[in-house]
Amino acid sequence: MTEDMSRRNFLKGAAAGTMGVAALGALAACSPAAPAADAAAAGAAPMAETGESYDVMAQMSALNRNMTEGAVAATSPEDFIVKAGDGALKFAPGGDPLGITPADFMTNVPAWLGEAPVFENVTAADSCDVLVIGAGNAGSVAALRAQEMGASVILAESQTYDEYEEYACDMACYNSKLFLENGSDPVDPIEVMNEYIRLALGHCNNKIVRDYAFRSGEMLDWMVDNYIPADITAKHAKNHNVKGNANFSGECAGKKSFRGMTQWRDEASNVNMWPYVIRELHKGLEGKGGKMAWGYQAVSLVQGADGTVTGAIFKDIDGNYQQIDARAVIVCAGGYGGNPDMRLDLSDSMRNLAWAYGADRTDATAIGGMGRDGSGIRMIMWAGGTMEAGPRAGMSIGKNGAPGFAFGGVWPLFGPEGKRLCNESMYKFGTNGHLDTLPDDQLLVNVTDANWEEYLSYQGYGHETMDRSAGEQGCAARPAQ
Ligand SMILES: Cc1cc2nc3c(=O)[nH]c(=O)nc-3n(C[C@H](O)[C@H](O)[C@H](O)COP(=O)(O)OP(=O)(O)OC[C@H]3O[C@@H](n4cnc5c(N)ncnc54)[C@H](O)[C@@H]3O)c2cc1C
Repeated sequence: MTEDMSRRNFLKGAAAGTMGVAALGALAACSPAAPAADAAAAGAAPMAETGESYDVMAQMSALNRNMTEGAVAATSPEDFIVKAGDGALKFAPGGDPLGITPADFMTNVPAWLGEAPVFENVTAADSCDVLVIGAGNAGSVAALRAQEMGASVILAESQTYDEYEEYACDMACYNSKLFLENGSDPVDPIEVMNEYIRLALGHCNNKIVRDYAFRSGEMLDWMVDNYIPADITAKHAKNHNVKGNANFSGECAGKKSFRGMTQWRDEASNVNMWPYVIRELHKGLEGKGGKMAWGYQAVSLVQGADGTVTGAIFKDIDGNYQQIDARAVIVCAGGYGGNPDMRLDLSDSMRNLAWAYGADRTDATAIGGMGRDGSGIRMIMWAGGTMEAGPRAGMSIGKNGAPGFAFGGVWPLFGPEGKRLCNESMYKFGTNGHLDTLPDDQLLVNVTDANWEEYLSYQGYGHETMDRSAGEQGCAARPAQ
């Protein structure tokens, strides 16, 4: 690489190598990394702390130029091979950093995380083998299964018993007997697994996806067979899209979707019944000797001297701090969709979509969302956990979601002032993402011709898609085992 060493690289290498602080300071004045004093030019970014500007073009635009003195492009394959020398790839190592301060850019400890809190006057409340934090979908199942397997379990939930609300009603499960015995065709779990991993761009835990593809049906059957009363299943579990859509071949615009969703609904009112039905799992836990701790908001994990998590501290509804000790703690406190700051910082794909539409990329209100407050994630990180690397695709930005209404967006989409809103090849959930970026008073309009109903018969299956398959079909309950 010596022949590629420019003045710029020399400065960079020297800075990283042997130079002392004083020498670096002396060179900084002639280094391109020094903020340009005359950077009043258009495009210069103001610095929050000093009020000076970074002259971005002046400092970065030399990248990939003037790297090799006297460079001449090869004129023949032979000449190219000679010039390539040892064949080692030569690449620009990047420009010097602009010197952007944390206040302008980011900090190592984001504000939404802060420092781990310390609590005094904590009462020793209880102890168990397995403490599960959060009685949502994951926590309710984890607690019940651990109790079934012989552990003593406490399931602690921040909501009170009377106010308890649970998200979700449409539950995707594959090859459940409940479905198969009620008319669904089996699906190939390998195909399901591959499609999920593909949609996640590989940014997922493949083992978890595999377990889900192969065993989610078993999970549904376990709940239905053992804990959910047969009359509730018969009345409220709907096997969505059981017969498929007339003209859907399984793939739409390169994306697959599979039949395998139960909707827990009251048909007459269209009310989501899952928040009611999931309580059967809590009853099951108590029936097997486990405990529910309602109104217990976890605020911190307790760690032993070696860092092992040995319990958690909770704030009860009277504001008192209570500690529950455990041999193992499972945190199932949900995501961060309801925390605007975490959404802005962590949901990079959502933030960038909003930015692409001209929204302020530092404005938390530019990114819509819903869900939990991220307190479980914060506690885990305070205890030494880390987050998976991004990018984190929002559900609503066209990167995932099944092809659905309106058939992969064959219809023109108009937004504010009647202008075309987005590329109509976006999927259903993609379209929802664009809706998130629109101010409240603005409309999204689809325009179609009279054949709209036929188009719908080509759509895939999924959450929020319309069932064109002769309606939902109730599931006959399976006999208790
Ligand atoms: C409005 C909405 C609708 C949705 N609809 C669907 C759908 O139809 N189908 C689908 O598949 N997915 C749906 N989702 C996504 C789905 O709900 C989540 O992926 C799923 O609930 C995650 O399960 P979980 O157990 O990890 O978290 P959650 O179900 O969110 O459960 C977390 C639990 O932990 C509790 N908790 C939080 N913080 C603390 C704390 N500090 N201490 C103690 N307890 C705490 C919460 O109160 C909650 O009960 C929806 C999400 C939302 C927000």
